[in-house]
Amino acid sequence: MFCCDLLAEAVQRGAFYYGAAHRIDDGRIANDLQTEYYIRAASSRGYEYLGINYCPFCGRAPSLGLWQAEKKK
Ligand SMILES: [Zn+2]
Repeated sequence: MFCCDLLAEAVQRGAFYYGAAHRIDDGRIANDLQTEYYIRAASSRGYEYLGINYCPFCGRAPSLGLWQAEKKK
């Protein structure tokens, strides 16, 4: 499911979120990237989720949006 152990661990620690955007119920999404990878940051109200396109650890795991952009080529 995860591209590397480091990301799996970060998700376990709660620093990262992996999953569908509509399932986020304890914070707001800070940008509008089409992705299922998010950095989870504490903010004044709950959490802020920053969408990312690539895994910050291994550089793989392109997001949903990138896969779709690739398919259209
Ligand atoms: Zn990775």
